[in-house]
Amino acid sequence: MVVVMSPEASNEQIEAVVVRVRMTGGEAFVSRGRHRTIVGLVGDLDDFRALNLRGMPGVADVIAISTPYKLVSVDHQPERSTVVVGVESGAHPVMIGPGTFTLIAGPCAVESLEQTLEAAEMAKAAGATVLRGGAFKPRTSPQAFQGLGKTGLHILAEVREVTGLPVVTEVIDAADVGLVSSFADMLQVGARNMQNTALLQAVGAAGKPVLLKRGIQATVEEWLMAAEYVAQRGNLDIVLCERGIRTFETSTQTTLDIAAVPVVQRQSHLPVIVDPSHSAGRRELVLPLSRAAIAVGADGILVDVHPDPESALCDGPQALAGADVRELASTMRKLIPATGRHLGSPSPVGM
Ligand code: PEP
Ligand code: MN
Repeated sequence: MVVVMSPEASNEQIEAVVVRVRMTGGEAFVSRGRHRTIVGLVGDLDDFRALNLRGMPGVADVIAISTPYKLVSVDHQPERSTVVVGVESGAHPVMIGPGTFTLIAGPCAVESLEQTLEAAEMAKAAGATVLRGGAFKPRTSPQAFQGLGKTGLHILAEVREVTGLPVVTEVIDAADVGLVSSFADMLQVGARNMQNTALLQAVGAAGKPVLLKRGIQATVEEWLMAAEYVAQRGNLDIVLCERGIRTFETSTQTTLDIAAVPVVQRQSHLPVIVDPSHSAGRRELVLPLSRAAIAVGADGILVDVHPDPESALCDGPQALAGADVRELASTMRKLIPATGRHLGSPSPVGM
């Protein structure tokens, strides 16, 4: 059940709802959106019905929901959300959501200042408005490059300063959420950690927008429940990212579930983007899958670019460079307007 507070509801009125719910042994999670506050209830529906929450001061509506996720569902918020990235860091803030198509691009891993800066300039020239780059890398093999850690975060901040691009970077350990959020504009939770509930709760409480990748074994419903963990900590600034799932097919690293985009959009108000790089694992498939993402109505794509993919310490075979990046840019310029959107440009500073 979700209690929707009226826009004028006072903190005392919100607190009174929480107290009344907890008196029945139920749980109440307050989520403060930009326009209104909602309280998600977990517990016995019949007990909640007996509370007459609808009659309480400041309550606009009470909605019974039967899905295992509430705050992220279209039932409590039918209009699609916009997530704003980069408001506090001095970068050019970016809006991800309806009406725009956002290119997030950058190196898989931050390797050096020069490499990250070059990748960021390539990304920006192609129309990217958000820079990606991993400082903490969740690698399948413990022998593989694990990222530069804190040094990588400093590099990302420096590159943001030079390019104006807000930065999304992955956090793989709940203990690092404070550190990573002191540098990043957006926190990425990777496929391997989609069901790490302690991490989801920690990023939910950090007050930064979250990019939540789909786990390679996760159903859409499990993915939305993971988003709900973040939302329950009071953070609805979540962008979902479809990055492929494991199937019997071996010609691609994972199978891009392109249908997941419209499926999610029917269930959730959150923006959803596609990662053609990590799903395919092959450079030559990034452009065709990007076209599919635009056509299917995704809110953006996340693409690996690298100034010298041959020497990349991480995921070189999927990174775009040179002419491939230019072709992606020209394809986007042609196709995005045909779907009634425009290539995301930074929103006016101060937004
Ligand atoms: C990444 O984006 O760098 C990454 C590790 O992706 P995923 O979690 O989707 O494998
Ligand atoms: Mn990668």
